[in-house]
Amino acid sequence: MPRPRVYKTEAVVLKRANLGEADSIVTLYTPNLGKIRAVAKGIRRPKSKLCGHLDLLTRSTLLLAQGQNLDVVTQCQSIEYFPLVKNDLKRIGCALYVAELLDQFTVEQVENYPVYRLLNDDLLWLGEARDPDIVLRHFELQLLGHLGYKPELYYCLSCRAPIQQQRNLFSSSGGGVLCPNCSEAEPVANLISVDALKVMRFLLESDQASARRLRVAGDLSREVGQVTRSYIRYVLEREVRSLEFLDHLEAKGQGACPS
Ligand SMILES: [Zn+2]
Repeated sequence: MPRPRVYKTEAVVLKRANLGEADSIVTLYTPNLGKIRAVAKGIRRPKSKLCGHLDLLTRSTLLLAQGQNLDVVTQCQSIEYFPLVKNDLKRIGCALYVAELLDQFTVEQVENYPVYRLLNDDLLWLGEARDPDIVLRHFELQLLGHLGYKPELYYCLSCRAPIQQQRNLFSSSGGGVLCPNCSEAEPVANLISVDALKVMRFLLESDQASARRLRVAGDLSREVGQVTRSYIRYVLEREVRSLEFLDHLEAKGQGACPS
């Protein structure tokens, strides 16, 4: 549906880039228009009315006017800053990863309300979670599911036999699990444990309230992370840059949050 000349929307800011001396281009994720990019004129001037309302990872209500190339933000009021996320370096890193992942996986102006809800719900959860890594695994798997990349976790990709409780393989190129008998079908598939498979199924299928009760040991969480990361790298055909920051924190021993 074409947008009216002036329109109002709620949005979460995924990215900001400087434009000229005082403007910014903001990448926004909205409930009804999906991802959009817009110009925030004069936002980098200290007295700008927009200042503070379009910070990265802030949810706001905006009024936009259609422009020749990009639409222009004319008014803006913040609704949610996700303050608990922004109080902690690890959680900030996780939230930047969530924003970058969503930006890389989506094209502009394709509505996906479940993804908008997922973004907001998981950013709130990220602020409160004992284990932020589980929130990332939930976001990754749910996002893949909502965007048509849901991994096959129940039947072997090759022979279609139901997956048994044994060490199977995960194929990033196939987007799912292979049974041991079919391991030669995909030489670059990686081993996946029974418990990692169970965690992935649970995070894909349960609502957030149930997912919040899940407790996963560090090693298992890392295994699930490696599987999803490798699958995402295959789908996007590149690495997500903000992962470097999370890896850096992990290496410095700052990867864990105080509970
Ligand atoms: Zn098989």
